[in-house]
Amino acid sequence: MDIFLKSLNEFKWETSSVERIKSGANPKTQWKQLVDKDICGSSGISVGYSKIPTGEDLPLHNHKPQEIYFVTKGSGFLLMENHESKHIKEGDIVYIPKDKYHGIRNSGDCDLEFLFIFTAERWKDIKYNFVSNQT
Ligand code: FE
Repeated sequence: MDIFLKSLNEFKWETSSVERIKSGANPKTQWKQLVDKDICGSSGISVGYSKIPTGEDLPLHNHKPQEIYFVTKGSGFLLMENHESKHIKEGDIVYIPKDKYHGIRNSGDCDLEFLFIFTAERWKDIKYNFVSNQT
């Protein structure tokens, strides 16, 4: 298999489908798929890059695979169960165990951007359970 190399700028932003919005996703949060089985033939890992505008959030949710966030721009709050939250900012890394509820709110004055890494073949196969009324 060949090594895959590509600039973030070459990937296009994606937005949530109507179905996904109905399930609790925020239509204003965008992402790019960077690495997965379909994109570059990887196995057991997938990586994406997400952008949350000022005042918006990635609502509280959970999923089966564990996940890592690496904040590359902006600041805000890491949302957790029981209305708890932690301040996060550019340079922070977050490890989320499987099934653990989490989300991100952008409380800063610029976009909040972060890399997300899953131990899954493809991000699109991961089922997100949003808890829109628990935050
Ligand atoms: Fe997640």
